[in-house]
Amino acid sequence: MPRDAQLVAFLNEVAGLWPVAKGSLTEIAKPCVRPACPACQRRERHPAVIFTYRQAGKQHCRYVPRALVPRLRRAIGNGRQIERRLVALGEALIFAHRRARTTPPAP
Ligand SMILES: [Zn+2]
Repeated sequence: MPRDAQLVAFLNEVAGLWPVAKGSLTEIAKPCVRPACPACQRRERHPAVIFTYRQAGKQHCRYVPRALVPRLRRAIGNGRQIERRLVALGEALIFAHRRARTTPPAP
């Protein structure tokens, strides 16, 4: 496949993978800040979802609004799919280079 055709195929593939994100979601139960909260007094706590991600090698966490969880979960799945494709494309570059090589490999 010519280079431009490969690029177009890749862009078409990733165009359907939006939104994207890299990180992970964790369900937790946390106490709240309200004084005399009945749930906290019963030690039931409050369910929440945390998004954990790395930026410049440093780990960060953010609370995720409940309504955003499905979209962010889909974004993380899309991001992982793109990462798998990038790994496969890197490997394919090496195989294509080997096939195109005219001189035999060094012993
Ligand atoms: Zn509470």
